[in-house]
Amino acid sequence: MSSLVRQIFFQPDPSQGSLRRASGQRLAAVPLDFLIGLHLHLYERFAEKSPDLLYRSGYEQALQDMLRLNEELRAQYGGESFDLWQMDAKFILDTWWEPLDEAGWGRCTFDLAALTRGIGFADIEAGAIAEALGNAEHPVCHFVAGLFAGAFSFFERTERHATELQCVASGGSTCRFLIGPGSVVDSAETWRQEGISAVEIARRLK
Ligand SMILES: [Zn+2]
Repeated sequence: MSSLVRQIFFQPDPSQGSLRRASGQRLAAVPLDFLIGLHLHLYERFAEKSPDLLYRSGYEQALQDMLRLNEELRAQYGGESFDLWQMDAKFILDTWWEPLDEAGWGRCTFDLAALTRGIGFADIEAGAIAEALGNAEHPVCHFVAGLFAGAFSFFERTERHATELQCVASGGSTCRFLIGPGSVVDSAETWRQEGISAVEIARRLK
């Protein structure tokens, strides 16, 4: 990341030993090796007891992100009359993802054409986890899948699940996620394990 980008998005404060966003929220800068080590450790430590630990961590983080975003937008747009759920889904999701992109989680494009049926797609380019854990047999971005499940669950006010249909770490051109009702996501996950492509799965669901 260039120093100019760092200056725009992040404000280092050596006296506090902290790095903050322009909004004041604290964050950490870590090398890719740290992400690799963290994932390997969590897999080894929790694979049997809690295989979906990363996914659930992402889910919880997105809920907290959305609560914070709701308050930020309320302050910005209209006080008590502001209603996040009356706003355009793409605007809300893009606004939610923006700081994650700035922080290195990758550029995200949402496809919400089937949202009336509770189904959404998200494509990520240059995501940190896929970059760190390249050369995998299966999708590895479980934390990110959890983020999407949490954000969509919050915005749709009903339980949504997510799965990664293709991953850069296992040869995909982008990391592509499906978000939707549990039964839909379970079907898609079964198809992916049978070797059906992300494009074909999306065609079946749209
Ligand atoms: Zn991925």
